[in-house]
Amino acid sequence: MAAPSPKIKVAIVGGGIAGLALAAGLHRKHKHIDWHLYEAVSEYKDVGAGLAIHLNGIKAMTLIGPEVRQAYFDNASDMGEEDQEMSTEVILAQGPSMGELVAELGKAKGRKSISRADLLQGLVELIPRDRISFDKRLKSIEEDSEGVLVQFQDGTEARTDCLIGADGVHSVTRRYILGPDHPATEPKNHDGWQLYRTMVSMDDARKHIDERWTKIVPILLGPRGHINCMPLNNGTRLSAGVAVRGAKFTETGAAPDLDPELYADYREDARQLAKLVAKDTSASWTAADHDHASTYFRGHVAMMGDSAHASLPFAGNGAAQSLEDAAVLDHLFSRLNSPQQVEAALSAFDLTRRPRSQAVVDIARKYGRVYAYAEGDLHKDPIKMKKFFAESAAFTNNADLDKQNNDAMKLFEEALKTRHGGSAAER
Ligand SMILES: Cc1cc2nc3c(=O)[nH]c(=O)nc-3n(C[C@H](O)[C@H](O)[C@H](O)COP(=O)(O)OP(=O)(O)OC[C@H]3O[C@@H](n4cnc5c(N)ncnc54)[C@H](O)[C@@H]3O)c2cc1C
Repeated sequence: MAAPSPKIKVAIVGGGIAGLALAAGLHRKHKHIDWHLYEAVSEYKDVGAGLAIHLNGIKAMTLIGPEVRQAYFDNASDMGEEDQEMSTEVILAQGPSMGELVAELGKAKGRKSISRADLLQGLVELIPRDRISFDKRLKSIEEDSEGVLVQFQDGTEARTDCLIGADGVHSVTRRYILGPDHPATEPKNHDGWQLYRTMVSMDDARKHIDERWTKIVPILLGPRGHINCMPLNNGTRLSAGVAVRGAKFTETGAAPDLDPELYADYREDARQLAKLVAKDTSASWTAADHDHASTYFRGHVAMMGDSAHASLPFAGNGAAQSLEDAAVLDHLFSRLNSPQQVEAALSAFDLTRRPRSQAVVDIARKYGRVYAYAEGDLHKDPIKMKKFFAESAAFTNNADLDKQNNDAMKLFEEALKTRHGGSAAER
C-alpha cells in the first residue's frame, strides 16, 4: 500500500483579517495542509476604526465557510433597526448643492458595522489556539531547494513549503517579493492625507451631535476634508473622523492640529462632528496606500490583503478585498497536492487577484479626490457624481466571486499542465 502523502506546510504571517480568514478556511476544509499562523503582536488592540463589510466581503466569507460569515454577524452590531435598509450615506456638506445625497454605499437590510478588534476576536475563535503563535514578528525570508526559511525577530525560525504574507501595509513579505528598492515596495501618501479620528461613548456623542448620526454612517463631503462617523460595539461607542487631503505636515512629518473653524461653511451636522473630533484626536493617523506591485508572489512566497494592495479607506473595501484574497487562496489550496505545485497555485492567485484588487486601490484614491471636491468639477454636478459612485460600487461590491474562484482554479490547472506536464505529484 502506498504511504499517505506528507502534508504540505503553509506558514501564514500576520493574523489580521486576511491571515485569520485564510487560516479559518484551511483549518475547516484542508486536512492535507499543515498550517501555522505567526502574529507579531501579543494581543489585539482596538485601533479606533470601524468597518462595514460590503456585499463582496460577505460573499467571500461565505465561500471560505459559513462559520466565517457567522463570526462576522455574531460580532457586528446593527447600524439601524432590524430589517431597516441602511447604507453609508455620502452627502455634499458644503457648496451650492449642500445637502444633496450622492451615494448610498453598501445599501442592505440589517446592515452591520464592526470594530476591527471584534472581527479579529470572532475569527481567532475559529482556530485552535496551538496553531497561532503570538509575539512572532517576521524578520526575513530565504528560499532554497528545501523550501522557505522564515526568520523571526526573536531569533527563532521555521521551515515551510509555502509562505503567505498577510503582514499589513508595512509588509516584510512585500519587501522580499518586490525587493527593498522597488518603487512600489513602501506605502506612499501621494495626496497628503491626514485622518483625524476620535472614539467616544455614545452617551458622550449624543451631547454634541444629532441623534440621527448615532445610528447611520454618513460621509459629509467638502473641500477642506470629509467628515464621517460610525456606531460601534452595539451602538455603545461612536468612531468619528475628519479626513484632510493636502495636510501641511511639518518637516518632522507631524500633522497640524485639527482646526474645527475650517468647517464654518459646512453643514451644521458636519460642523458638530468636526468639533467633536477636534476635542481628542489621539486616535488619528496618516494614511498611505500602495502603488501597483508588478507581482503578488515570488517562488513559494505570496502576499495577500493590505500587504499586497493597501488602499486608502475611502471606498470601504480593503477588508473585503482581503477576504476575496483569502477565498481564492482557500479554493486553490483545496487542489494543492504537493509542494511542487505551490508556485503554480500562487501564480494563479496573482493573475486572478492582482488586476481587481489594484483597480480597487485606484477607485479608493479617486473616492478621496471626489470627497475633497478635487476631481475636476464633479462636485458641481451631483448627477454625474451619483453615476460615478454607482458604477464604482457596482465594480467593488457586485463581483461574481464564484467565477473568480473558478477562474483561479482553471489557471492553476492549466499551469500544472503546461509547467510540469509530468509527474503525478505535480498534477
Ligand atoms: C479608517 C479605516 C476604515 C476602514 N474601513 C473599512 C470598511 O468599512 N470596509 C472594509 O472592507 N475595509 C475597511 N478598511 C480597510 C481594512 O481595515 C483593511 O484593508 C484590512 O484590515 C486589511 O487586513 P489585513 O489582514 O490585510 O491587514 P492588517 O489588518 O493590517 O493585519 C496585518 C497583521 O499582520 C501583523 N504583522 C505586521 N507585521 C508583521 C510581521 N513582520 N510579522 C508578523 N505579523 C506582522 C499585524 O500585527 C496585523 O495583525 C478600513 C481601513 C481604515 C484604516
